[in-house]
Amino acid sequence: MEHKSADKIQDLQYFGEFGGVNPSISDSSTYTFLSAKTMFDTFEGNTEGCYLYSRHSSPSNLYLGEAMAALEGTESANVYASGMGAISSVVMQLCDTGDHIISSRTIYGGTYAFMKNFIKKFNIKTSFLDITNLELIEKSITPKTKMIYCEAVSNPLLEVADLPSLSKIAKKHNIPLVVDNTFSPLSISAAKLGADIVIHSLTKFINGTSDCVAGAVCASSDFCLSLKDVNDGAAMLFGSTLDSLRAASILKNLRTLHIRIKKHSENTLYLATQFEKNGLKTVYPGLKSHSGHECFKKQMTSEYGFGGLMTLDVGSLDKANALMEMMQKENLGYLAVSLGFYKTLFSAPGTSTSSEIPEGEQKEMGLSDGLIRFSIGLDNDIHKTYLTMKRCMEKLGILKNDAVFVS
Ligand SMILES: *Cc1c(COP(=O)(O)O)cnc(C)c1O
Repeated sequence: MEHKSADKIQDLQYFGEFGGVNPSISDSSTYTFLSAKTMFDTFEGNTEGCYLYSRHSSPSNLYLGEAMAALEGTESANVYASGMGAISSVVMQLCDTGDHIISSRTIYGGTYAFMKNFIKKFNIKTSFLDITNLELIEKSITPKTKMIYCEAVSNPLLEVADLPSLSKIAKKHNIPLVVDNTFSPLSISAAKLGADIVIHSLTKFINGTSDCVAGAVCASSDFCLSLKDVNDGAAMLFGSTLDSLRAASILKNLRTLHIRIKKHSENTLYLATQFEKNGLKTVYPGLKSHSGHECFKKQMTSEYGFGGLMTLDVGSLDKANALMEMMQKENLGYLAVSLGFYKTLFSAPGTSTSSEIPEGEQKEMGLSDGLIRFSIGLDNDIHKTYLTMKRCMEKLGILKNDAVFVS
């Protein structure tokens, strides 16, 4: 398969007002019209190139949206104030009261809480299922089902969704496949693999500097327009609009995404390979031992690797906490949620980003107490990082001199 997403992003040229190499930032919430007729037409949504009010759209947001559409190869894309702003808008746009959603059971904690708790008030029900069980997914579709929702690579367990197969099922039943591709930009081109709507939290790899929250929806022009419809667009009416200054700074960071993803993947594969050799329970889709390894390989654009996330199970929550504190003291990274930063970030998902998921359900999906999720940074000397991490683990009795894993 031919993927040219990174080239397409590089090719997008936007010049500033005075010939600047970056586009001018639209520093306005509202826009003047030369004629009253044009204002009416813009309200009706049929005047190309006219801006009305920045909650609807702004030049800076449109630039970033175009770059996101180029990234995923979709017709269009909208950008939002957060990943959750994008996710909640899509769900509310697609669902009516009484509808049903089929979702992967291993998803971001906020998405899980939104689907499980929040939309209950609209009597929208979600079945949280094992996304790798295609038979079960198809069997669970009812006439009320409005979408199949999953993450291409899931948070935090790094389960890999078979997007072409899920897309086939979705098409057969005439419902959209909605994919959150936050963990695997460039590595997995979700829309090209059959997703109808691709969501990103730009907060993570795409922005990559952990200085803001933002999100995007990449989809058909029709769907993107429907989200910002002044009469019934979920995004327009809930108002999770991204600020233009932020859109401009995220666009600049997006320009280097391809280089960063390669380095994140290279470093993570190195550490995962080493720690697995050392006998630690290591989960990384780049390892042959990972249940989704073949599925990832079949879908990936190989030059970008298997991504920057891995998990290690160090046996217990106490050990996980002690290790994370020690690694932070050694300046190996930060004990923090989120991902995609230049610095390694680590957290215990059971007590942080997935704490919305009840304990019993965490166990069922394989989320154990001693699990640490790592977003591996852009370390220049990853071997040195490995040696320092290993020394921490030896000190805490998680690893014994070079060999056995003591649980
Ligand atoms: C962080 C994250 C989100 C939510 O994004 P925000 O920008 O924090 O609102 C959604 N999905 C995944 C997979 C995430 O990692």
